[in-house]
Amino acid sequence: MTQLYAIYIACSDGTVVENPRPKAVTQSKIRIASKSKRRKTKPDFKKKIKASSRWKKANRKVANLQRKVSAQRQDWVHKVAAEIVSSNSLVATEKLNIKALVRKPKIGFLRKAQKTGLNRSILDVGMGALRSAIEYKLAEAGGIFVEVPTQKVKPSQTCPQCGSQKKKELSERIHSCSCGFTCDRDLAAAQVMLK
Ligand SMILES: [Zn+2]
Repeated sequence: MTQLYAIYIACSDGTVVENPRPKAVTQSKIRIASKSKRRKTKPDFKKKIKASSRWKKANRKVANLQRKVSAQRQDWVHKVAAEIVSSNSLVATEKLNIKALVRKPKIGFLRKAQKTGLNRSILDVGMGALRSAIEYKLAEAGGIFVEVPTQKVKPSQTCPQCGSQKKKELSERIHSCSCGFTCDRDLAAAQVMLK
């Protein structure tokens, strides 16, 4: 899982879609509620112990919060997928779908990407769900969905301007080539995949 650091979708036109943030708040509420649930008497069928009413209440609270997180995720997935599909006819993505890239009908210019730090929340973003949502929405709209074999293409090591290859360390967040082309690492990779 060497690519966990890329927590956002870098589009080839320079658009960067970030993770939804509010979930972190709900996550910490879940942690607190689960802890309080653990302190209460849970049901044990072998020992013939019934759940306490406090446990049942705490259990409902945890379940409701988890439902909320999953609803927020679903909401985000469909919003982002609809947005991407509405303005693009071709979407190419890396096998793992950590980075997605998108071709707009018109040529956009590259904006400076905002840098985002390492964030564990990629684990609950539902990238797989986003990927399939894009895929079926795109199919409905008559667009094309392409999966790039990254082992052959090596998007993160290739310069989108001149095509020369150079190994990068994971910590190198900026693509800087001897041909003079410099931009964010993920945006460069997105452009390579599009080509
Ligand atoms: Zn170059």
